[in-house]
Amino acid sequence: MIYKNIPLKKYNTFGLDCFAECMIRIKTEKEAISLFNGTVSWKKPLLILGSGSNLLFTSDFKGTVLYPEITRIKIEEQEPDNRNVIISAGAGVNWDDFVAWSVNKGLGGIENLSLIPGKVGATPVQNIGAYGVEVRDRIVKVRTINISDGSIRVFNNSECEFGYRDSIFKNREKGKYLVTRVYYRLTINPLLNLSYETLKEEVNKLGAETLINARQGVINIRQRKLPDPEIIGNAGSFFKNPVVESSFALSLKNEYPDIPIYKDHEGYMKLASGWLIERCGWKGQRRGDAGVHDKQALVLINYGKATGKEIYNLSEEIRKSVHEKFGVDLEREVETVGII
Ligand SMILES: Cc1cc2nc3c(=O)[nH]c(=O)nc-3n(C[C@H](O)[C@H](O)[C@H](O)COP(=O)(O)OP(=O)(O)OC[C@H]3O[C@@H](n4cnc5c(N)ncnc54)[C@H](O)[C@@H]3O)c2cc1C
Repeated sequence: MIYKNIPLKKYNTFGLDCFAECMIRIKTEKEAISLFNGTVSWKKPLLILGSGSNLLFTSDFKGTVLYPEITRIKIEEQEPDNRNVIISAGAGVNWDDFVAWSVNKGLGGIENLSLIPGKVGATPVQNIGAYGVEVRDRIVKVRTINISDGSIRVFNNSECEFGYRDSIFKNREKGKYLVTRVYYRLTINPLLNLSYETLKEEVNKLGAETLINARQGVINIRQRKLPDPEIIGNAGSFFKNPVVESSFALSLKNEYPDIPIYKDHEGYMKLASGWLIERCGWKGQRRGDAGVHDKQALVLINYGKATGKEIYNLSEEIRKSVHEKFGVDLEREVETVGII
């Protein structure tokens, strides 16, 4: 069934008031295959939409939005070492429901990724990460359908070409595959990753270092720190944390002794975008209804009636000022869709 002229306000966490020319909802892989093998005709271009929690619509979408509703979580197999289990989840499963399900079953590995908005299908696209964990550490394989001919292709972990908030699906083969199911390796009796001091402290406040407390700790911190998109439109961190040459990071440290810098891969260091933006005076600033959150400078918000274009323009102003002050180019983590 193809729906026409669909309002997207409830399909994007910025709460932007825009429209999709067409929308198709699919519940099974079979339905998706018939879309792509020519059995059904639809208007191009195509946008695959999860929860729209990493998207900025800068105009109406003139094409077809595909909304996968493939659900079901399946226990696939227990590995011979009896320590790990392979669990798969359909692209349309809400990510945090999946994390809650696994924690309730005593399966660990993704508890630090609790409360990240979005659907399972986007997790390999984005390589979501938080509190020292990236989902690539747990993805075994990703089942997809090739949009150009409806054929099935399964990508193993290394074929996904994961990077920092990056993958083959977002980069080299962007827009070419629909993710239908993701397979994760989860651990029975897991070792918790409490390498983030704030998380360790939060868990200890809750009591023992258990899987359930690790999830709850993450939820508590996130609820304190990040604005809830149900209350105020946002897409989480708007920019990536820039990775720069170590020599450059150290020269910044000389000039700004309180700048946070973190080790990255050999010869490179990571800077904190939020700190750079805050230092340029952006925290709490507004341009009409587009604004910078007053507690977390990395989060841009829609106070109500902002357009995607206004938020985009604000992000450009921020990038310009960070470049002028620090010589650092910020890259957007949020994906822009539409005309700029
Ligand atoms: C309050 C808040 C906090 C956040 N915190 C974090 C965080 O801590 N860490 C983090 O990594 N991210 C975070 N995010 C960003 C966001 O939640 C993730 O990027 C999430 O994975 C996006 O999922 P989605 O279903 O909303 O994808 P969408 O935003 O709908 O889509 C994102 C991209 O994935 C593609 N896509 C979606 N589904 C499929 C599919 N089935 N097949 C192929 N392509 C697909 C889309 O076409 C698009 O290119 C946060 C966002 C918010 C609003």
